[in-house]
Amino acid sequence: SKNQGRNAYHFFTEDMNAGVQRRLQIEEQMHSALGRNEFSLRYQPVLDLKNNRIAGAEALLRWHNPVLGNISPEEFIPIAEQTGLIVPIGYFVLEQSLKAARKWSTTYSNEFTIAVNLSPLQFKDPKLIVKIKELLASHRLEGNALSLEITEGVLLGNQIKVQEAFQELSDSGIQISMDDFGTGYSSLNYLREYKFQTLKIDRSFMQDFALDKSAPALINATIAMAHALDVEVIAEGVEEQEQLDYLIRKGCNFAQGYLLSKPLTEQDFEAFLND
Ligand code: C2E
Ligand code: CA
Ligand code: CA
Ligand code: CA
Repeated sequence: SKNQGRNAYHFFTEDMNAGVQRRLQIEEQMHSALGRNEFSLRYQPVLDLKNNRIAGAEALLRWHNPVLGNISPEEFIPIAEQTGLIVPIGYFVLEQSLKAARKWSTTYSNEFTIAVNLSPLQFKDPKLIVKIKELLASHRLEGNALSLEITEGVLLGNQIKVQEAFQELSDSGIQISMDDFGTGYSSLNYLREYKFQTLKIDRSFMQDFALDKSAPALINATIAMAHALDVEVIAEGVEEQEQLDYLIRKGCNFAQGYLLSKPLTEQDFEAFLND
């Protein structure tokens, strides 16, 4: 009826308004969040499966805001990308991560690698590579102390330009890792077109591990294919011993996930390293 239709419309706009309002509030708070020091990093250990040692960590961004509380990166990163704020926030992440990597390469292992997530918009910043090199130099780090994790979105732009950027990064020893492998439209094609040092098998494959026979088969095939292309493999989202055993059996290079550790504060990560 006419009445129902009007109510449906009414509900729809209310839901929509709540979403829009939340978004606007996040956007408004985010503008001054860097200046107010509201961002911090957590570090999730990455285990080298050939020697059972910590190879490095992935830096993961956290935001605590006095008005909104803790906001998940799944919610605020897309907004930071749409507003362009991901560029300055991304430099904060790089700076903090390399500072931590400097410390841990001295105190723990000079082969320590810090992995940093990069958004497509950061990759389009013409100053990115120069700034990364400056940050590495000012922290007295070699390029191979840094791994940049990128998703398919980065590769959608100008292919030649992206390939040139990859070349310049790898000339400096900086590693490039394909994140969320297996979830996009043409992960396989991208492996052919761009030179990655590592790929990260998306954690959805781990979630389906015990439920769906095709998940372990696809993990196994991905490892074999990556190795044939001279690409190393990190499995993410490893939560069960059974998954880890399988990955070791199949020759996977690295593992990351709650089984080993959740993302940790800098202090807790140091305690973890010393354990
Ligand atoms: P991602 O790069 O795929 O990061 C892996 C996510 O999986 C992280 O979520 C991590 O906390 C979570 N995780 C790790 N191990 C497990 C596990 O065993 N089980 C489960 N269920 N989850 C696990 P988080 O920290 O919430 O980050 C979400 C996404 O936000 C990241 O996905 C990444 O795309 C983005 N992100 C986080 N930090 C940054 C950043 O500094 N810059 C950019 N551009 N994006 C970031
Ligand atoms: Ca990542
Ligand atoms: Ca991932
Ligand atoms: Ca992801």
